[in-house]
Amino acid sequence: MNHAIRVHENGGPEKMIWEEVPLPEPKPGEVLIRQKAVGLNYIDVYFRTGLYKAPLPTGIGMEGSGDVEAVGAGVTDLKVGDRVAYAGSIGAYSEARCAPADRVVKIPDGIDYTTAAAMMLQGMTAQFLVKRTYPVKAGETILVHAAAGGVGSILVQWAKAIGATVIGVVSTPEKAAQVKALGADHALLTSENIPARVKEITGGAMLPVVYDSVGKDTFLTSLDCLRPFGLMISYGNASGPVTTDLGVLAGKGSLYVTRPTLNTYTAKREDLVATANDLFDVVLSGKVKINVNQTFPLKDAAKAHIALESRATTGSTVLLP
Ligand code: NDP
Repeated sequence: MNHAIRVHENGGPEKMIWEEVPLPEPKPGEVLIRQKAVGLNYIDVYFRTGLYKAPLPTGIGMEGSGDVEAVGAGVTDLKVGDRVAYAGSIGAYSEARCAPADRVVKIPDGIDYTTAAAMMLQGMTAQFLVKRTYPVKAGETILVHAAAGGVGSILVQWAKAIGATVIGVVSTPEKAAQVKALGADHALLTSENIPARVKEITGGAMLPVVYDSVGKDTFLTSLDCLRPFGLMISYGNASGPVTTDLGVLAGKGSLYVTRPTLNTYTAKREDLVATANDLFDVVLSGKVKINVNQTFPLKDAAKAHIALESRATTGSTVLLP
């Protein structure tokens, strides 16, 4: 017996249907995973609404953890019984699912299934953002939008562990308190004049980098927080995709803009393993905590989507099969 959330047509949370589905058999190069926990990510909303396209009907969800129940032909480095986790393979909202073995990693002792499911996608994203897209250095001041969110909470802690001064931006005083508790030096509210506050905090120097997952609503504000030659990292669309013309960069100080994705940074197996290991190390060291602040039964994934889209979640959210 196997159940999964399926989407037959794009739309609101009510389009996610809990169905009985056949237990899949692993094809060559795949493993069958009996899932213990599934991670909720904003990208799941984009696939549900159709902002990102998958052929319909489709499974949904990108991230999970569990035990290997069967292995397909040609899989040599995973075996039945291994504790594993993955990110980036659609169809995670399922009690059991097959995934390409080369996208799956073993979970180290000391990390439980719920933490693993919460951290793979958001944590590996934070890893490439602070270590590769812009390698943050001790003493630098950086700004993180949606700082109390899933990726945001991890980014804030990781940048602090490196020794940066961190400015977090959030929508409510409650989230601001949480971001300060994560170690952020400054927690600004979206209602404030963010560039003016950054100017004040940096004594006019402005920032070498901004991490922006909000997209449409914050793109221009983020540009105005940067110093000459600064880097605008636009890595998400929580408020809608950025549609601004490149012309806005004229006269802004020869800025750089990038729109990175985890898929590119972990496309090679060796990069996936290195990224995951760096994440496991920082979590096991205690420098970064994965805060699972909400859990929902997997069959109630619609409730989780409503909470995420209404900005009611903080930290990570996990769905339990
Ligand atoms: P979050 O937990 O950060 O949730 C989204 C947050 O965005 C909200 O809590 C809210 O924080 C903020 N927000 C601002 N405007 C809106 C709006 N109009 N509607 C809803 N939320 C809004 O989600 P995740 O950690 O899962 O993902 C964060 C972002 O990172 C997403 O955009 C996602 O697509 C992106 N991402 C990108 C990846 C990549 O490879 N490029 C990989 C992983 C994630 P507040 O209330 O404080 O403003």
